[in-house]
This record gives sequence, C-alpha cells and structure tokens, in this order.
Amino acid sequence: MEMITLHLLILEDNPDDAELAIKELERKGFKVKWTRVDTKEAFREALAEKPDLILADYFVPSFDAMAALQMYRQLKVEIPLIVYSGVISEEIAVECMKLGVTDYVFKDNLSHLGPVVKRALEEMKIYRKSRQAEETLRESEEKYRTLYDSSRDAIMIISPDKVFLNGNPACLKMFGCRNEDEFIFLTPAALSPEYQPDGALSVEKSQKMISIAMEQGSHFFEWKHKRVNGEEFYSTVLLARMKLYGQKILQATVRDITKYKKLEAQLRLAQKMEAIGKLAGGIAHDFNNMLTVIMGNASLALMEIGKDDTLRQEIEEIRKAGERAASLTRQLLAFSRKQIVQPKILDINKLLTDIEKMLGRLIGEDIELLTVPGPALWKVEIDPGQIEQVIMNLAINARDAMPQGGKLTIETDNADLNENYFLEHGIEGEKSGHYVMLAVSDTGSGMDKKTLEHIFEPFFTTKEVGRGTGLGLPTVYGIVKQNNGFIWVYSEPGQGTTFKVYLSEVKKDTDLEKKEQTHVDDPGGSETVLIVEDNDLLRNFVQKALQGYGYSVLNAENGEDALMVCKEHDGQIDLMITDVVMPKMGGREAVKRLQPLYPQMKVIYMSGYTDNAIVHHGVLKSGLNFLEKPFTPKGLVRKVRKVLDE
Ligand code: ADP
Ligand code: MG
Repeated sequence: MEMITLHLLILEDNPDDAELAIKELERKGFKVKWTRVDTKEAFREALAEKPDLILADYFVPSFDAMAALQMYRQLKVEIPLIVYSGVISEEIAVECMKLGVTDYVFKDNLSHLGPVVKRALEEMKIYRKSRQAEETLRESEEKYRTLYDSSRDAIMIISPDKVFLNGNPACLKMFGCRNEDEFIFLTPAALSPEYQPDGALSVEKSQKMISIAMEQGSHFFEWKHKRVNGEEFYSTVLLARMKLYGQKILQATVRDITKYKKLEAQLRLAQKMEAIGKLAGGIAHDFNNMLTVIMGNASLALMEIGKDDTLRQEIEEIRKAGERAASLTRQLLAFSRKQIVQPKILDINKLLTDIEKMLGRLIGEDIELLTVPGPALWKVEIDPGQIEQVIMNLAINARDAMPQGGKLTIETDNADLNENYFLEHGIEGEKSGHYVMLAVSDTGSGMDKKTLEHIFEPFFTTKEVGRGTGLGLPTVYGIVKQNNGFIWVYSEPGQGTTFKVYLSEVKKDTDLEKKEQTHVDDPGGSETVLIVEDNDLLRNFVQKALQGYGYSVLNAENGEDALMVCKEHDGQIDLMITDVVMPKMGGREAVKRLQPLYPQMKVIYMSGYTDNAIVHHGVLKSGLNFLEKPFTPKGLVRKVRKVLDE
C-alpha cells in the first residue's frame, strides 16, 4: 500500500471525532500530520501553514464549515475543503458543493473518507497542473505579443483565402494604416502595385508565392509593395505556414529594404562608372596625343599658308573638328574622374557672372536665362573648369528639354543641412553641415519615374542617335562626387526639372589668384628645350611648333633616351617638356636624374590623364607645371614662355 503523507487541517470541536477521522485515514494508508482548530483565529493561522486539505465539521458552535468556506473564499485559498458531519441532510450537502466545497462525507459513513480525500487531492493536483500550464501559456503568449508588437518587421496573419486577420504595429506603420481595423479590411492585392519589377502581374505572382509557402512550409522572396498612400517600396517577405485555431494560416514577415536597394543601385552605378572610366581613361591617353597632333598641325599649317589660300577653310574645319573631339575627351575624362583637377577656392556667383554670356549663346534666344545669385554665398573648393562643366551640362540638358523655348533659372544659395533634411530627401551617407547649393531649373518636358531612375547611368540617353551621348549627367555626377558633394533631382512629366547640386563649404579665403594668364606678349624665345615624348607625331609637332617660335630643341623618346641625349649635348638645357607615362623610363624619373645636372632647368609635364607620378588622388601636386593634352601650338608656347620667365 502506498503511503501518502497528508498535512491535514481539521475544523472540529470534538477531539474524539477528529481522532476517528484521522484513524480512518491512517487505515486507508495516509500518513497524517494534522492540526485541529475550532475557532476562527486558529483556523486563519493554520491556513497560513498551507495544509494539503481541510476537513471541516459542518456544525461547530463558534466557527463552522460555512464560515470557514467564506473565509476560505475571501482569502482565495486553493485547498480542497471537505465537509463532514453527522447532522446534515443530503440537500444541504449538495448545497455545500454548489458553494464550492470539494466534497462531503457523513460521520456515520467514515469509510468513504479515504477515497474522498484521495479524489480531492487528485483533483487538486490536476487543477494545479492546469493552472501552471495556463500560466506558462500566458507567459509565452506575452512574450510573443511583445515580439509581435515591438518588431520592426511587419508581421501579418493571412488566411488561405487571402484575408488579413492581424497586423502588428510595424505593419500598420509600414503600410500607412491608422489602425488594425483599417488594415484588416484591405486585401493583399491593395498592398502591391499592379506589376512586380520583373513584369509579372502582382496578383498572379503572389498566388504562386502563397502556394509555394503552403506546400513547402515557408518561402522567402523579394517583393514590391505599395502603401495606402500609393507610395511603392521594395521588401523581402517570409511566408510561413502555421496552424491557428485548427486552421491553416500564413504568417508574413515583411521588411522594407528600400534603403539597401538604393545602396545596391548606387554601388552598381559606381562599378559601372569605374569600369567605363578605366576604358575611357585608357583611350583618352592615346587619343589626346593624336588630337594634339591633328589640331597642332592644323594650326601650324594655318600659320604657314596665306590668308587667301584655298585650303584655309578646309584646314580650319580640321582644327574645329579637333576641338570638338577634344571637348569630348575632356568629357570622358571628367566622367571617368581621370581628369587632372586644380581645385581653387571660389565664389560660384562670380564664376556664374563670368560664364553667363557664354551660357546665353549656348542655350539660344528662345530660352530666357535667369540667374538668381544667393546673398553672401559661402565659398567652395573645386576646379573652376569642373564646375563650369557641371553648369554647362545641366544647361544643355535644360535647353534640349525646351525645344519650343522656355525659362532656364540658375540659382545659388547657402544651405545648412541637418540630418532631417537627408532623411526627408532619402539621401544616404552625406554629412550634415554647410553646403553651397547650385540649382538649375527648366520649364521643359520633365521626366517620368522610369527615366529618372537611369539618368546618371553612363550612355543612358533618350535623345536621338547623334544628339545625345548619355555622358552629360554621369559627368556631372562624377565631378560632384569627386568633390564630396551630392545631387538632388526633382522632375515631373510636363512640369520641368530642377537639379540641385550641393557642394561643401570651405572656410578659407578665396585664393589670392596669382593671375593665371600673366599676359604673354611675345611667346617666342631662343632657349634650349628638351622634349621627351614617346609618341613620334606629337614629339615632332612640339618640336616644329617651338622651333617656329625660335627655340632650340632637343628630342628624346623616353627617359633613358633623354639621359643619352644630354650626355652628348654640351651646353645648357633651360627647359624640359616631358610626357609622364613612357616606356623604359617615365618623366618623373628622368627629371629626378637630370635636374642635378642642370639645376636651372625648368620642367613642364604634359599629360591628358591622371597619373600618380604627378598627381595625388587626381589633384596636381603643387609646384608642378603642367600642360594638359590636347593643346594647341599657341597654348604650348605661351606655357613655355611663362614657365621660363618665372
Ligand atoms: P544626353 O543629354 O546626352 O542624353 P545626359 O546624361 O546629359 O545625356 O542626360 C541623360 C538623359 O536624362 C537625357 O537623355 C534626358 O532624357 C534626361 N534629362 C536630363 N536632363 C533633363 C532635363 N533637364 N529635362 C528633361 N530630361 C532630362
Ligand atoms: Mg546631356
């Protein structure tokens, strides 16, 4: 017989009756530890001991079973209470049960006591267990609820017939619903644009995704969603099949990945630009050499032939075509960020005034040009040629967008941008601070969303073949990025376009511009010049041009060759004009070797292309004289004279 230890509280005024009950229980195998009480106070105290069971006489003079039951209820004690009595009728006993007594036993039938107690204890055990299970469930529900409520991902429950059953707070926020009621009245179809980025109908594709999730248990995919206000965004969706209240349901976890998508697109664009930039840079090097020769020889020919020579016009055309080609290579280099830049601290307003006339000619008479310079404009540090290129490219695009005429407005202003601005405009990775804003607006055709997505991609153009190169905006983008700025575009079809370029303020004073073009009256001279250039045609052209102005010229094909030439030459060398990148020995190295032999010798580097030998991160090392390819004979001799005279 198993022994059950029982901690018993007996409410009984008759000690003999209590004895009897204990004996009976012991007979039934209980090991009883007991306390007998017959007053309210004693009962209350004994309750605090947490007995396993209460056995209460129905009628105790000072405090009977009913009073005990009342207290027991008030105190919300969860201990089985068994009434035992010799005097009560079966009706009263049943009444007791209704009031919450666990069971009853008649004193004249004590043999029932054992089984009744056993059952009561058993029931209590089951009850406690289920209470505990309930508690655990409540806790886990609470845990889930917290996760659900505080999740940053939208979590929604969808029935298989595609009805929303729930949406967490993040879900309401993501889709722009005021409350859950508004959300559950929506259909999944209302939360997607008609088509997905791959061209599939959203309704059809979502059905497919749901089927897969239902079949496999879960499914993860990318999606394009739509908020209640119509705004679209990229997302990832995890669909998980679950069972809720016996029904198969889907839980969808949606994450807004617009931010990552943007970064990804930026990265892709940057990679594309980098690749094309490399290609362009490589071509430009050779191309600039050839252009220098073409334009140079054309210029030399023009100097040699008479004013009325019949060939004059043709040669003039060659030179002009060369210039146009040169502006194209400049464009390519700017875009590839291989252009050598010489940043200056400048006031964009002043620069605007300088180029206003030229801009007017560029856009033609049908378009009204309005400049609105901002007051007390902060300074920026940028190569003036580059910012000119930015303005020109934007102006040309504006002109092209207004074939029937219109208005082109160029504005500048100071802009103190804080984080909020970047958040609101969806611009990533820029620092808050002082910027100078340059806005170019037109009243032209404007652009739709699709076009806007691609405008900064190299070679993207909507213009007919021969008219657009698709390099204008990538160039602008390249320049602005190179100068740690950013661009913001606003455009709508038929509403015109505004490009805003932001460049960081510099807190230095405008360069005391050593007047770059100290006017050279007579560029001729008789000094000795050493030319080091591996391209024969170019070397010959430079030689011819310099000789034409009276200079003595020595020739070398590369650095090594230059050392030989100098060994054989006795006398001074006043100036060395050298290419930077050459086989065998480059320009920088040759200068290093020759400079000690001719301490007075000046040096001009020629290049069309950034190279770390003379530039650092695309910026010319200070103190170096530099002649950008392609150049004309005049440009060459002016530079030569200037450097010699310094
Ligand atoms: P391109 O001018 O050679 O086409 P861009 O890179 O300068 O190349 O411009 C790319 C495209 O962006 C243009 O073809 C045009 O569709 C669009 N675009 C640029 N600026 C404007 C503008 N101001 N108004 C309307 N569309 C523009
Ligand atoms: Mg353009």
